[in-house]
Amino acid sequence: MPKNDDICSFCGRSRKEVKLLISGIDANICDACVDQARIILKEEVSLTKKDGSKKFTLKKPKEIFSFLDEYVIGQDFAKKVLSVAVYNHYKRIDAKEKDVEIEKSNIILVGETGTGKTLLAKTIARFLDVPFAIADATALTEAGYVGEDVESILARLLQVADFDVKAAERGIIFIDELDKIARKSDNPSITRDVSGEGVQQALLKMLEGSIVNVPPQGGRKHPEQKYIQINTQNILFICGGAFDGIDKKIANRLKTSTIGYKKGEEQEAIDKENLLQYVTSDDLRKFGLIPELVGRIPMISYLKPLDESALLRILTEPKNSLVKQYTALFEMDGVDLEFNIEGLKLIAQKAIESRLGARGLRSILESLMTDLMFDMPEKGSKVKINASFVKNKLKKNPGLHLRVA
Ligand code: ADP
Repeated sequence: MPKNDDICSFCGRSRKEVKLLISGIDANICDACVDQARIILKEEVSLTKKDGSKKFTLKKPKEIFSFLDEYVIGQDFAKKVLSVAVYNHYKRIDAKEKDVEIEKSNIILVGETGTGKTLLAKTIARFLDVPFAIADATALTEAGYVGEDVESILARLLQVADFDVKAAERGIIFIDELDKIARKSDNPSITRDVSGEGVQQALLKMLEGSIVNVPPQGGRKHPEQKYIQINTQNILFICGGAFDGIDKKIANRLKTSTIGYKKGEEQEAIDKENLLQYVTSDDLRKFGLIPELVGRIPMISYLKPLDESALLRILTEPKNSLVKQYTALFEMDGVDLEFNIEGLKLIAQKAIESRLGARGLRSILESLMTDLMFDMPEKGSKVKINASFVKNKLKKNPGLHLRVA
């Protein structure tokens, strides 16, 4: 039997059996046990918040939904799909230890510009404990072309995760403007020259789960740069795009599929004003996304064009609504600014006309308020933004709605 000071107090192996035995006051520890302890420590620390509570709490879809509700007006269907997908994402990470491998469900949000796709993604990010990065598909190019490599998206995620590879590997990435990398041949309106298909292929590799060499500083790959390997298997991808013109493809499909299948009554039930709600992976393929990529994004959701009442709510309800922002700005100068409902309605109507969704609201308001802010009324005065004020401004500058904020 070896002497007590010659064995590891943790695993019981003798000095001869280990590479190194470190002696303390009353105990010894071997190199293998130190390694083991380090792993346990790292896992515990990454799962524990500063206050000692565990970071990883499974958020139920309804909790996620109601959080989204605080910031995003309407778009209930998209909120539902996102809530469930994010919930499952958490579960998948949690189930890692178990035998069942749960496959991830990447998501695509189809909707006109300014309807809240990015806002939804950003709001989800605020709610989550996982690293989150936003990327713009239009900036991406195939390796070898001028522009960003697809890997740069992962570099961003890694940076957000403070270079904790494990954390990044369970993060979420929002890829905006996916429609802009559609195949040209299927979509003559795209003027982009560098083949979108090449970028789609590169994205596909990432979406389906692979080990990717990531240049840690982002940017282009460089032979001398050390890469960090990231496994994308558990990274959830949320894609967004306006897919301008896809409604025509949906309409065509619905027309052909209704003939012979459905009775007259059911045909009546199609809501022609909002065809996006019928979008399928087939339509995305016809639009110019390669089938393999579409196959990797099984969850499809849509965002409705915002109508007058939704825009009115956006103007006034959210915690940082535009009306609240302007009122606060004027208040700082001691001026009491008041919007009346008729004035707000005109602004909402103008935004609908501009086809920029809620994005148009800001530019319209900026234009309406610039003069007023330039000649700021005296302290203590009251200003009313009513229908005649809005009409007057619009008359003077009928094209103002075309400016994007
Ligand atoms: P998209 O990504 O669909 O083009 P964004 O999410 O970037 O549109 O929306 C632009 C701006 O309009 C947001 O910053 C937000 O202030 C506002 N907005 C858009 N949709 C909504 C919505 N459904 N609820 C509240 N605000 C919205």
